Amino acid sequence: MVFEINQTNNPKLDEAYEKSMKELDSFFKLGWKYNRPNLVLVPDRKTINSLKGKETPEWVVGWTQGNTVYLLSDKNYETQSNHKYSDDEYFALLKHELAHCFSHIISKFSQKPIWLLEGLSIYLSGQLKLRTKPGKYSKFLEFYENGGKGVYSESGFAVEFLVKKYGKEKVIQLLKKAKESKSKEDFADLFKSIYDFELNYNNFEVL
Ligand SMILES: [Zn+2]
Repeated sequence: MVFEINQTNNPKLDEAYEKSMKELDSFFKLGWKYNRPNLVLVPDRKTINSLKGKETPEWVVGWTQGNTVYLLSDKNYETQSNHKYSDDEYFALLKHELAHCFSHIISKFSQKPIWLLEGLSIYLSGQLKLRTKPGKYSKFLEFYENGGKGVYSESGFAVEFLVKKYGKEKVIQLLKKAKESKSKEDFADLFKSIYDFELNYNNFEVL
């Protein structure tokens, strides 16, 4: 390996990690004590691109690979991305990625639907506070197997609606079974069997 990657040596970040793990575990009830996610701080854009094997846009600052969370180092956050640094934003980003680690385990590493996986991470990490509410939903369902910047604008609010209105158990059940769906249509059937209504924008409210 030619990359220079630093493990966290930052007590505030360690504390944010512990707090996030505790809160996420109380949502998912995994009782996750051993082999918890590794956290790797990546120094710069060049190393992000090397690790991901492709050029990445400026907004990409964190991702998960297996049980490892990669974050652009807080020290170079503003020079190596188009984000402004604040502890709030950075710790929410950490929690977002850790939430993906929980979702991976619950869903047996299902990659779909992207809107559900991203929406859960956005909702559980507290990132909704940092986002503008959509007037109405019109695009999150397009993100089934393809991601992109657009998935972040509505999916967190859609998942918030599901959790607050119908409870977290149904969302967890949806996540558990997501991998059995072989297509977008299959997933819509699974959704209907759990929620008893169709998966379409008319049935989702912005809270
Ligand atoms: Zn994500």
